[in-house]
Amino acid sequence: MGNWFRNFMMGRYGPDQLCFFTLALSFIFNLIAGIFGLWPLSILAYLLLIITLFRFLSRNVLKRRAENDKFIKYWWPFKTRVSSFFRRLKDSRKYKFFRCPSCKNRLRVPRGKGKIQVTCPKCGERFKKKS
Ligand SMILES: [Zn+2]
Repeated sequence: MGNWFRNFMMGRYGPDQLCFFTLALSFIFNLIAGIFGLWPLSILAYLLLIITLFRFLSRNVLKRRAENDKFIKYWWPFKTRVSSFFRRLKDSRKYKFFRCPSCKNRLRVPRGKGKIQVTCPKCGERFKKKS
């Protein structure tokens, strides 16, 4: 079985980040479609599954790699923004978050220190802020 699979996958692209993403999306769509009875969504889920399989088994490695690179380029900033949002949410008890009035850089100060003098590490702007 192992040998057969290795021969079968020889020269084929295999999994990448985009592969996992489309697979996860397909799974989520299928789940939502099942709960709410939305058949167009389940068709979309199967389409995504087919795309995932097609990319996985594709022999055009260069093209698949280019697709994955493009995906990472768009996905990464979004992922970073989402994870930084959840980190802020988690820290919002301990820290107060705001933006620098001059350069809009995101800053945080510990909560409960009263009115404090803040210096922006990016542009050096000084201002008072309630913490
Ligand atoms: Zn600033």
